[in-house]
This record gives sequence, structure tokens and C-alpha cells, in this order.
Amino acid sequence: MSITVDTTQLSEALSQLEGARAWPAGLIEQLGELIREGTDEAVFQINPVSYATTRGHTPELGIELFLHAARAGLMQIDWSLRCCGCGELVANRGGLAQLDRDFYCDSCARSSAANLDENVEIAFTVVPSIRALRFHAPDSLSHEDYFFRFRFSRDIVIRGLDKTLTSFLREQVLVLTWLEPNSEQVFELDIPEEGWVVGHPRTMITTFGAPTTEVRELTLDYRDRAFEPRPELAPGPVRLTLRNSTQARVRVLKYFTPIVTYFDYLPHLNGRRLLNNPEFRRCLGTEVVRPGTGIPVKDCTLLFTDLRGSTAMYDLIGDNAAFELVTESFESMAQIVTRCGGVVVKTMGDAIMASFNHPADGVRAGLQIILNDHGELQPKVGLHRGSCIVVNQNDMVDYFGQTVNIAARVQNEAAGNELCLTEAIWEDVREDQAVAASLTEFGELHRELRALKGVTEAVPLYRVRVR
Ligand SMILES: [Zn+2]
Repeated sequence: MSITVDTTQLSEALSQLEGARAWPAGLIEQLGELIREGTDEAVFQINPVSYATTRGHTPELGIELFLHAARAGLMQIDWSLRCCGCGELVANRGGLAQLDRDFYCDSCARSSAANLDENVEIAFTVVPSIRALRFHAPDSLSHEDYFFRFRFSRDIVIRGLDKTLTSFLREQVLVLTWLEPNSEQVFELDIPEEGWVVGHPRTMITTFGAPTTEVRELTLDYRDRAFEPRPELAPGPVRLTLRNSTQARVRVLKYFTPIVTYFDYLPHLNGRRLLNNPEFRRCLGTEVVRPGTGIPVKDCTLLFTDLRGSTAMYDLIGDNAAFELVTESFESMAQIVTRCGGVVVKTMGDAIMASFNHPADGVRAGLQIILNDHGELQPKVGLHRGSCIVVNQNDMVDYFGQTVNIAARVQNEAAGNELCLTEAIWEDVREDQAVAASLTEFGELHRELRALKGVTEAVPLYRVRVR
């Protein structure tokens, strides 16, 4: 298939990307070459992490490259909702604002609640105005392209088989067709062993027992978003009639699986990691959740700071001078947060709230914030991690929930120049020798149980007196 590229627009976008920051030699040229000459698959839903690591770069560089490419108008960000039950990419969304709390999976025929960690897979596709791809028009794709390249996640490996989900589907396929409205088709199948015939839309034939040579007649009827009934039969030949009783054309995949499949996910960019990416928040951070739609995140590390001595300082040197000092402190804290791979969610008076992808990053930031010189001011820092809900607060991404409340209260427990962390943080970072050592350098950590306002159970925490 011939490749059509708008070379003028491509060069403009590439030079904008080139000028965005200093890049490793050849990185931008390589991307340009891929867009000009690569296959459609190679420039469709690019995984920024594997793109970078297979070329000898860090995942962070890959994420930054593609975020800048999106900003330069070269790439679009695909927010795919992924079903963890079957690996299907349920929907491709243009942005955070188009995500819903719940999603429906056709292969599983059920609705599930989405979370940013497990269900939102972020990839990058070249924009249609620079290069048209057949994947830009999914309805016109062949069945192979649709199911094995477009509809199921390419970042899943089947545990124990050492093969990707899409290559497994390709090997195990029994039926691949369109079913026209109010029509039926017959398929001669031979099911060799015990297992399940499943697929898209939802199908469930269980095969078990001794194989037979007798040809069985079986009719499955598609209505109400799934094939019924869900029969059990012995392995062997089946004459399968598929009937579509709806008014819509249905694309059908049926495959046989002899095992219960467990998925391992290849390194990729998920929604949580993207929201905690400083570059995303800087370049494209106007992305917000649709008002009234809180999207859960399963594991987020939150850092709160406050400044001890600021009230007295306002008294002593007056509002203007104090404001200047507090602003300076904020700026240095924000730089530390960004350097440690986190983002400042918001500032509240003399306090900062920041979020991180990993607890270790939060701890590093907390320590550096206190070790930094703030003059008369003494930072008080608290860290906690857990699930929360990403919400829209005054058109900004914000977090909501008990994890947020506890993180704020833990900060409140800290004295000046002290870092307080909950057990949830310590349990994670103690495995990281460098981070654990940087904490214990200030003395042995002692577990204490504290009753926090608004929290029923006492919260185990550790305090580190840094200065
Ligand atoms: Zn599913």
C-alpha cells in the first residue's frame, strides 16, 4: 500500500519538535523517517515506553518525546479503555474529558468501573492530516486488522506462553466474519480438546470430556449484545450456525482457548503515569475530567507541605516581603517536585499538594524540599499513598477521597523540617535501598500510631527529623 505524507506539514512539525528542547542525536530524524516510511502499524498507537527502550533510551525520554510530538501537532494522544478480563480496547478516546467512570466490554458483555492505572492505556498515533492510516477508519479495516491490530491491546503477553495476546488470538481463531442484519452463517468447526470458545461479541461454549467424532449441530443467536445460549459439549466436530437477530451488522471473532489466560502487561504508559508526568501537565495540562465524572486511580502517592513560621514572618516583615519569600519557596519546591518526576496539583495558602507515580519519588522530593534552604521558614511534609478519585476542580485536575484527607492530616502531624510518612509509603520504599538509606540516615524510623481527625482507625506513621 502506498504511503501519502504531507511533507510540508511534517517538516514544520518536526522542526517545532526539534526546537522544543535538546534531544539525543538522531532521535527526531528517526521519528521523521518512521512517519515517512514506516508501515501503518508502526505509526499507529505507538507505545512510547517500548519505542524508547528498544532504541536505547529511557522510558521517560520516550514519554517526553511523544508528548512534545503531540504538542507540535505530529501525534494524537489515544486514550484507550482496556478491559482487563479479555484485553479488548473498548473505546478509543480523544482525551481525559471523554473518559467515563464505567465502560462496557463487548467480549465480556458487562460493564466495569474504569481506573486510570489498569484500564487506561495511552499511545500515540500520527495525525491524519500528516499521514492517513487505514486505522483512522476502523470500520473499513479487514477483520485481521480490526481484531489483531486495532481492537485488542498489543501490550499484553499471555502468562506462561511467552506470546502476545494478539498473536495468540491469531493462532486460535475459529470464526472471523461480518454477520449482516437478520442473517445467519454456518461454520464447520473442529474443537480439538477441552477448553472454551469465546470471542467478540460475548460467546461461551465450554468443551469438556472425551472427544467425539459425531458432528453436532449448534445454533447461537446474537441479540442483546451477546450470543446465546452458552452450551457445554464434548470436543470434536461442530456445525455452528451463527444468527444475527438484530438490525445491525455485527463483526464477529470467535477463538478457542484451551487454557484460562492470565495477562502480563508490557511496560506502557497508563493514565496515572501520564497525569503524574510534569511534561504532560506543562504542555497539555488543560486536559480535565468531565465535570461530575470522578475517575478512580488505584494507587497515587500524594505529598503535602506547609511552612512553619510563615505566620510569624508575615507579622515580622509584612505581607509583601513575606509573600515574596513564600513564593520563592514555592518555586523551589515546584522545581524539586518536577525533578523527582511528580507534579504540583495545587497550592493552598502556604501549602502545596503534589502527586507522584511512585512512593520513592515522593520521598526523594520530600527530603529535598526540607534540605533546601528556606531561610526562617521550615517545611513540614507529609506523604501517603492509596486510591483516590481524579476530579475536575475549577478546570484543573485534582484528587479527592480519604487518601487525600489522610495525606493532608499526616502533613499536619509533621513538625518544622520533619517528614511524616505513612506505613503504606514506608512499606514500599524500604525495598528501595537507596531511598531507605536516605531516610534512615537521619535516624532509625519508629512506627507510631496516630489518631487523625476524621479517620476512624489510628494511622501508623513514621517521622523523619531532617534538620
Ligand atoms: Zn472484556
